[in-house]
Amino acid sequence: MTTVPALAELNFVVIPLLSTSHLIPLTDMAKLLAQQGVTVTLLTTPRNAAQFTASIDRAVCSGLLIRVVELQSKAKEAGLPEGCENHNDVTSLNYRRQFFASIDMLQEQAEKLLEEMKPKPSCIISDAYVAWTADTADKFQIPRIVFDGMSCFNQMCMHNLYIMRDQHKIPESGAFVMPDLPDRIEVTKAQLPGYFKPPAAVFIQDIREKIRAAEERAYGVVINTFEELEQRYVDKFRGLKDGRVWCVGPLSLCNNDNLDKAQRGNKASFEREDSLKKWLDSWQAETVVYACFGSLGNITVVQFVELALGLEASGYPFILVIKTGEGQAPIEDWISKNDFEERIKERGLLIRGWAPQLLILSHPATGGFLTHCGWNSTLEGISAGLPMITWPLFAEQFLTERFLVHVLKMAAGVGSQSHVHLGMEEKLEVQVSNKMVKDAIKKVMETEKEGKEMRKRARELGEMAKRAVEGDGSSHLNVKLLIKEIQEFHLNQSAKMIYNAQISDVLV
Ligand code: UDP
Repeated sequence: MTTVPALAELNFVVIPLLSTSHLIPLTDMAKLLAQQGVTVTLLTTPRNAAQFTASIDRAVCSGLLIRVVELQSKAKEAGLPEGCENHNDVTSLNYRRQFFASIDMLQEQAEKLLEEMKPKPSCIISDAYVAWTADTADKFQIPRIVFDGMSCFNQMCMHNLYIMRDQHKIPESGAFVMPDLPDRIEVTKAQLPGYFKPPAAVFIQDIREKIRAAEERAYGVVINTFEELEQRYVDKFRGLKDGRVWCVGPLSLCNNDNLDKAQRGNKASFEREDSLKKWLDSWQAETVVYACFGSLGNITVVQFVELALGLEASGYPFILVIKTGEGQAPIEDWISKNDFEERIKERGLLIRGWAPQLLILSHPATGGFLTHCGWNSTLEGISAGLPMITWPLFAEQFLTERFLVHVLKMAAGVGSQSHVHLGMEEKLEVQVSNKMVKDAIKKVMETEKEGKEMRKRARELGEMAKRAVEGDGSSHLNVKLLIKEIQEFHLNQSAKMIYNAQISDVLV
């Protein structure tokens, strides 16, 4: 007789891409699964593991069956500079191919670990960008569930764009309406991810196609979203994937503890833990604008100037996150030559490096989020019930902007017109003036009808997001359904094995 495997005997192996904004949600995903009583094993390299050790240690102390197993980095062998273990360390586009080679080189050691692993691996939750896990899952005869880090809305846009691209139907210029979507979504070719417009494409096409082919082979997909946010798009995407789509987000909401909120990704750059809180506490509710371009987004110095002046001119208190590193010298020069920090010190706060984004978004003083529309940041803003000011830069961010502005109607765009490829920022002229920044902020923050409605809508969606992850919420239920699916998969596998053994006995 076959029996359903007990929860702790199920081992979900989580394999994130070595990139901060992929590690963040997949670490949350690992905790979320472990909270249901299954065993979770996270595979990553030492420097990447260090980004979330503290949070995993706290999860272990609270009794969760979760562990990090380290893989030796293959950066050097792949021809990357010493210590370049994370996509965020890849400062030159010339290294992208080597970066993905370093990911491929992890397969052999990962498979060795999986062979010896106890409990035996039951399924792989793989970042979509780690393509080799498709072969590994086949080898171990376990399901591979991919995590793509996008919304169902974006999945459907991408699906349609691939069809359009293959039929050469993406117009060279002017806006076009995305076909076969429940809403009217207009974009231009210049706003699409690089792989829809070769030869300008900077993402190596063959690698992208390999990732896509591996994604097609997946058993199912987990999405960091919640059903109520985009039900029509969830239904459409489920239709494409034989129903095997589990919406389990917002993943960031699994961090209830203030330390977990503060210690996500890199170490937050703030000299004194409580000084940021004190600064935020000093402002009235919903008055502060928080501006951040995610873990990868860079803007040119000319665009930074317009952003800084726009924030200053808006009259609202603000926090502006500025990246650190060599490329930032022109920005720091402008700040110091123009006494910008001194000039705005009564009202503005510059955070250099890494901001504790979840803490800032969830503080009552924060009233608006100026974002580059990365999906993690977008969903974190939605979860905090905040209206957004959108300034998309690259990848699928223009599509997410359309979703926020035209579908959810909880954001105003600053008016950026074309894609800024990662690493090619300097090639573009000013697209957004300080007046455009100021106007968008005012539209969202002021008490006029439009702003009021956006804020109301954002607040309602924030409430829905929180309900989705509660006991009887849709995302909570979907996590349980995903685990049940894996349990049943193994039950069927062992039933099949018993049947095959009996048949061969009879045949002998
Ligand atoms: N983030 C953060 N502090 C920062 C910058 C980013 O905590 O100073 C986090 C943010 O909360 C989000 C992630 O990094 O979880 C960025 O992911 P997103 O998808 O928004 O953008 P990407 O970095 O992929 O462009």
